[in-house]
Amino acid sequence: MFLHGTSKINDSGHLEIGGCDVVDLKAKFGTPLYIVDEQLVRQRCKEYVEAFQASGLKFQVAYASKAFCVMAMCTVVEQEGMSLDVVSEGELYTAIQAGFPAARIHFHGNNKTPDEIEMAIDAGIGCFVVDNLVELHLLQAIALEKNVHVNVLLRVTPGVEAHTHEYISTGQTDSKFGFDIGNGSAYEGVEVTSKQSHLELLGVHSHIGSQIFEVEGFQLAVQKVAEFAQGVKTGLGIVFKVVNLGGGFGIRYVDGDTPLKVSQYVKAITDAVKEHFAKIQSELPEIWVEPGRSIVGDAGTTLYTVGTNKNIPGVRKYVAVDGGMTDNPRPALYQSHYEAVLANRALEEAQETVSIAGKCCESGDMLIWDVKLPEVTSGDLLAVACTGAYNYSMASNYNRIRRPGVVFVKDGQSDLVVKRESLQDIVGNDLVPERIAKQAVTK
Ligand code: PLP
Repeated sequence: MFLHGTSKINDSGHLEIGGCDVVDLKAKFGTPLYIVDEQLVRQRCKEYVEAFQASGLKFQVAYASKAFCVMAMCTVVEQEGMSLDVVSEGELYTAIQAGFPAARIHFHGNNKTPDEIEMAIDAGIGCFVVDNLVELHLLQAIALEKNVHVNVLLRVTPGVEAHTHEYISTGQTDSKFGFDIGNGSAYEGVEVTSKQSHLELLGVHSHIGSQIFEVEGFQLAVQKVAEFAQGVKTGLGIVFKVVNLGGGFGIRYVDGDTPLKVSQYVKAITDAVKEHFAKIQSELPEIWVEPGRSIVGDAGTTLYTVGTNKNIPGVRKYVAVDGGMTDNPRPALYQSHYEAVLANRALEEAQETVSIAGKCCESGDMLIWDVKLPEVTSGDLLAVACTGAYNYSMASNYNRIRRPGVVFVKDGQSDLVVKRESLQDIVGNDLVPERIAKQAVTK
């Protein structure tokens, strides 16, 4: 398994992260357990901030909290000078509870409810990324009623889609998100926004995809947004102060994933902005980005205890762990690939190829197909790497399995930042109405 950040194999042959032996972490916190390498998170934030500083452009780097949103994470990214992208009242509430400065919070989403909009306005957030005309009018109405002015970016679809090594230039983008540039709805959105008494249009937002390993898609998106900005300036006399280019910067999950360095993505974007916007406006726009996965993805490791196995001679050996699709739904959802190491015997030679199964009642609850490991037995510890993003945040209680705890490790210290759910938590919101409780048993 590739060792990310501060991960290493220590002299006892155990995986160590942030100076903490995972065998000790199991004894202290139990399994399954999400382990987050705090130093690596901080390093990634710094890489973004420093790369933008080097560009000379004004910027904000907003951590896309959907990747992993808990109070301690909000605190860490805040300390590293990041802004924050939230998509729901829950993420907003988490940020506010963590004391995240509201002015650096950006609110996304294609269906913000009136309650969410009110909550965000009352908190004094920095910007709404408006997705559609219905939201635009709702936001104006609520802002008017409260007599406040709110900053707005319009989410546009530039007709570029990118995933890993591919990007495509699409015509009219078929997406549930945003105003399409190609069919004129983005232009109309700008025009309508400019007429709203309580909305301040800062500029536009574009997010082209996820797990992107190349810069061409971002460069093309910048070009398309710049061409759009030119049309808006000519037609409406409006100049964009801010251009947000979203997230999607790729990370290494497994062999064959070839992400660029953060500085390479940022340089490609900022150079493209300088090239394409210099023709349009004397002052270059402030550039915002929203990395999620590339801030926390490779900083996360999930530690499991091995339980049963099933060997089907000539077919495969299944090894089951004490978690699965409830703590990591990505393999089942997206056929995502992961690497793993036998964390308590990491120096031993790989002896067998096994497949790692979760404990849920779903045949599709598989974490890894075909991984080479030393001969695995019950009680061994299995560490799956690169689970920091879209794991805890997508976790569920399917089969009423308790969500694991999350521990931050750094310099030999390990601190729980989310407690493992208790059985009481599992039934905590359940109610049995008297009408049902009292009902006589019918035969
Ligand atoms: N911004 C927007 C609008 C998104 O939809 C997403 C992910 O879906 C992100 C940022 C974060 O993307 P990533 O975690 O791939 O960097």
